[in-house]
Amino acid sequence: MSRILIKNGTVITMDPRRRIIKDGAVAIENDKIVDVGKTTALKDYQADKVFDASDRIIMPGLVDAHIHNVQMLSRGIGDDVDLIAWCYDRIYPYEVILNRNDEYTYLSAMLCCAEMIRTGTTCGADPGGYKMENVARAFAESGFRGIVSWSGMDRWSDDRPLPDGLLGKIDTDATMREEEKLIRDWHGKENGRIRASYALRVEPNVSDELYQRVKAAAERDGVIVQYHAAVNKDQVEWVRKKTGSTTVAYMNKIGVLKSNWLLTHMAVLTDEETHMLRDNDTKLCHNPGATLHGAYGAVSVGKFPEMLEMGITIGMGCDSSAANNSLDMLRTMYQAATSHKEFRLIPDLISPEKALEMATVDGARAIAWDNEIGSLEKGKKADVIIVDTHRSNWIPIHDFSIVPNLVYSGEGADVETSIIDGRIVMENRRILTIDVDSVLKRAQAAAADVISRLPYKIRSRWPIE
Ligand SMILES: [Zn+2]
Repeated sequence: MSRILIKNGTVITMDPRRRIIKDGAVAIENDKIVDVGKTTALKDYQADKVFDASDRIIMPGLVDAHIHNVQMLSRGIGDDVDLIAWCYDRIYPYEVILNRNDEYTYLSAMLCCAEMIRTGTTCGADPGGYKMENVARAFAESGFRGIVSWSGMDRWSDDRPLPDGLLGKIDTDATMREEEKLIRDWHGKENGRIRASYALRVEPNVSDELYQRVKAAAERDGVIVQYHAAVNKDQVEWVRKKTGSTTVAYMNKIGVLKSNWLLTHMAVLTDEETHMLRDNDTKLCHNPGATLHGAYGAVSVGKFPEMLEMGITIGMGCDSSAANNSLDMLRTMYQAATSHKEFRLIPDLISPEKALEMATVDGARAIAWDNEIGSLEKGKKADVIIVDTHRSNWIPIHDFSIVPNLVYSGEGADVETSIIDGRIVMENRRILTIDVDSVLKRAQAAAADVISRLPYKIRSRWPIE
C-alpha cells in the first residue's frame, strides 16, 4: 500500500462548488484520493511520502482532450501551410515513413509523454494514428493516463489523394478490424489507466458505412468516438458539395451525432448546427493553438463562446507538435481565454475559470472519464499536480487572482510534481518514469532520419552557415 500526503498548499479542487482551499492538503492511498481539506484536519494522516506544498498550488492534473503522440517527431514540418497541404502533402507522407519503424512510433510517444508530464498534463486522448500499440506501450511505461485509437479512413477521392503505404489506407472491413483490435488489446489495461476508443480521420476519408459501423461498435463496447470534424471551410465545403449538407447537419441526418462522440476543431458550423450538438449532448474539443497556428477559423468564424454559453461540453487540446506546436496546456488555456475576446472585442468573453474547467472537469467529461478524473475529490483517481507559485511570473498573487494568474501568467514549466494514478511520475521537475535525456537524443536522431526520407524538402528562410 502506498500513502501520500500533499500539505500546506492552495488546493484548487475543481469540485462541484469549485472550492479553493488555502493551507490545504490532499491525501492519497494507492491510486485514489482519500481526503481533501485543510492541512490541520489531515495532520494525523499516516503517509509514507509527504510533500510540503507551501507557496504552491495543488490541483487536478490537466486533461488534454486531443493529442497525437505519433506526430511528435513531425515538429516543424507542418508550419505555415494550409490544412489541406498540411494533411496530404506534409503529414501523411511523414506517417508513411514513420510507421515503417516500430521504434520510431514508440519514441515519438515517449517524447510526447515526457513533454505532457513536464507541463502538467496527466491524461491525454489520442485521436488516432497507426502502430498505436506502441503508443499504448509508452503510456504503460511512462505511467501516463490516456486513450489510444486507430485513425479510421476507408475512402479517398482524386482531389484528396493519399500516399501509397499509408497504413490507414485500407477498406472498411480492415479498418474495423484494426479499430476493434486496439479496443480488445488495450481498453481498461494497466489498472484502467489506458483506454481505447474508435476514431475517424477527416470527412473526405470516411464512408457512410464506416460512420455507421463505428457508431454501432462504440455503443456496443461502451467507448467514445474521436473525430476531426468541420476543421475549416475547405473540409465543410467538400462535404456540402458531396452531400448537400454541411458536416454537422449531415452527421445529424445520418444519425451519428451522439453523446459519446468527441468532435474536434469544429471551426465552421451554423447556429442550427450548434443546436443539434446541444440536443444530442455531443462533446467537443477546442484546439486554440492549432487554429492560431494553422488558420482554421475556429476563432474568427467559429462559435465556441456561444457553444460554451449553451452548456455544450467542450474540452481543450494541444493537438500535436506539427499543428500547434506546443503541448503546454497552460499556454492553451491562455489562448482559449484570450483569442476569442480579442476577436469579438469583449474582454470578459471566456473567463480564466472557464478555461481551467475546459482543461480539467469539462475535458474529463468530453472524454467520458469524469467519474474518475478532472477534479480533486474523495474517491477519484489520484491524478494531482503541484504548481510552484514562488516565481517571478506569479508574484504578486492574491485570493482573487489565483486562477487568473494560473491562466494568464502561468506556464507549463511551473509544474513541479506530478502524480498519476497514485504514482509519482515527476518530482521536483525530474521525470522518474522516463529516461528523458536518452529519449531526447534518440528522438532527434529518429526525426532526422524520417525527414531525410520525405519526398519533399523544407528549407530555412535564413541562411544556415
Ligand atoms: Zn488531430
